[in-house]
Amino acid sequence: MGNGHDMAARRKRVRVRFAPSPTGDLHVGNARTALFNWLFARREGGDFILRIEDTDASRTDRVYEANIVEDLRWLGLTWDEGPDVGGDFGPYRQSGRLALYGEHLERLIAKGSVYPCYCSDEELEAERLAQVARREPPRYSGRCRLLSAGERARREGEGRRPAWRFAVPPGTVSFRDVIRGNVTFEGRDLGDFIVVRSNGIPAYNFACVVDDHLMGMTHVIRGEDHLSNTALQLLLYRSFGWQPPRFAHHALILGKDRAKFGKRHGSVSVREFRERGILPEALVNYLALLGASLGGGREVAGIDGILASFSLNRAGKSGAVFDEEKLAWLNAHHLRLLDPEGLRSRLDPFIRKAGYGGEEEGRLQAVIAAVRDNLTDLWQIGDYLVMFDDGRFRLDEEAAAVLGREGSREVVAALGEAVDRHGASFGAVMAYVEEKTSRRGRDLFLPVRAALTGRVRGPELERVFDVLGPESVKKRVAKVLGGVART
Ligand code: GLU
Repeated sequence: MGNGHDMAARRKRVRVRFAPSPTGDLHVGNARTALFNWLFARREGGDFILRIEDTDASRTDRVYEANIVEDLRWLGLTWDEGPDVGGDFGPYRQSGRLALYGEHLERLIAKGSVYPCYCSDEELEAERLAQVARREPPRYSGRCRLLSAGERARREGEGRRPAWRFAVPPGTVSFRDVIRGNVTFEGRDLGDFIVVRSNGIPAYNFACVVDDHLMGMTHVIRGEDHLSNTALQLLLYRSFGWQPPRFAHHALILGKDRAKFGKRHGSVSVREFRERGILPEALVNYLALLGASLGGGREVAGIDGILASFSLNRAGKSGAVFDEEKLAWLNAHHLRLLDPEGLRSRLDPFIRKAGYGGEEEGRLQAVIAAVRDNLTDLWQIGDYLVMFDDGRFRLDEEAAAVLGREGSREVVAALGEAVDRHGASFGAVMAYVEEKTSRRGRDLFLPVRAALTGRVRGPELERVFDVLGPESVKKRVAKVLGGVART
């Protein structure tokens, strides 16, 4: 590409897209691709387009499309054009564009860029196995490329319906990737690839090129797992005589074992993290940070901060290991940034899921205020509500162990007496217990915490005491002394 072209491309309004196949819930890796595209569009003052790649009816489902749309919105990645919002370049679902692919196939046939392939799945599989046995990279042998008109007619006569394959020319395919620099593929390594399957369904690479061109994409930003697809797609652009967009392939998210981040590594979909009580701003922050850098060693940022420091060159250069603890840490940070109403509205669904929400509002607010600084996710509010619920409160193993230690019962018994004397004054209550048992520090506070909360760590003890009130404290003391609170 010469400089002249670069200048022309730069003057064009930027258009990028996110093109999920609705075959499952939105993977965080794909959400990161969507985020990079969204950030790039916003930074360049361009358009961000959502395109649904649903030509393969056997693998796609409208439910997944609806989930993906919902999860993208939850993340705050809104689009300017898409199946639900319309736009000038629709339809935005590939299933609604089949006629366009048909017309474009005709053009490739007319140019002689593609040829009919009559090989059955069984024949292709046998060929593939033979290549693997010979330790050759599996690729189509090109067998049907050389069929004579007569041989084609005979196969048609047998009722075989052809797939259309692209005749990959000899030579190389090179491009300059925005993130990775120069990339080159040898044509002979690529193999003649399918453009339209025998059932008439367009293959991904073909539909993608037709759409990216007709929809006026200026940049294609996607994972590096698509690098070899880009080589095939460039051959299609060449054949059509179209100017290709610029490509940027970012590195993928890895699991702890440095393999591609997948289900066996734990939660991988945006939906799973959402259901676990991760905030969208924390997930977006994490995905932007992962493998990139927000600049100046900064780690916590809202969307404006992320936008201000975003550049394609820096984002996604290296693969990065998904670190759940880092995400939890960021989530705790973002939780702390919420004002009380904001926090409350995020917590509400989780409060209801835990079976609470009908009780006295004042009490609910007191519990939230007491535990908010201890939350690392929204889901934990359920555990805390149980903890403050006299009917459901239980000792966990560590708390039971603490209370089983020598001297702990004495502390708990003294706590009961102290509350009888000093009621709701935490200071006076603890002074009494200290005096009575001659214990201090951890030896004093840990059994009290274990008896009151059923755990050995958690919110500040004084706050817990205040929210519980003397009646609940006495009930818990009685339960622990009676030995009925073990799980
Ligand atoms: N549907 C493809 C995918 O989800 C789109 C890839 C692309 O961005 O071209 O992997």
